[in-house]
Amino acid sequence: MKCVYLSTNRALMHMLQHLLTEEGMETVLQGEHLQGAVGELPVIDVSLWVLADRDAEIARQRVEEILAKQQPLDTQPWRCHGCGEEVDAQFSDCWKCGMAR
Ligand SMILES: [Zn+2]
Repeated sequence: MKCVYLSTNRALMHMLQHLLTEEGMETVLQGEHLQGAVGELPVIDVSLWVLADRDAEIARQRVEEILAKQQPLDTQPWRCHGCGEEVDAQFSDCWKCGMAR
């Protein structure tokens, strides 16, 4: 059994498990029941495992592909509220008038 991915994002982990299962891999999530208990427990990583060691490499590739598709937002330019200029995603302030995003 090999660990494929760790995250505190349970919804993400369930989605990844679902997608890998659809590809015919046997997977298991560990650690999720340690979260959400009564009281202020520290957030604990959920880990996703494949039962068959031979699936680990392809599973990690799949996870990377899925995660790459999950982050489209910050690559889009944004429009400044101050002057209306379109500003590239990597800038947190408008290059023209200096207003923060
Ligand atoms: Zn501006």
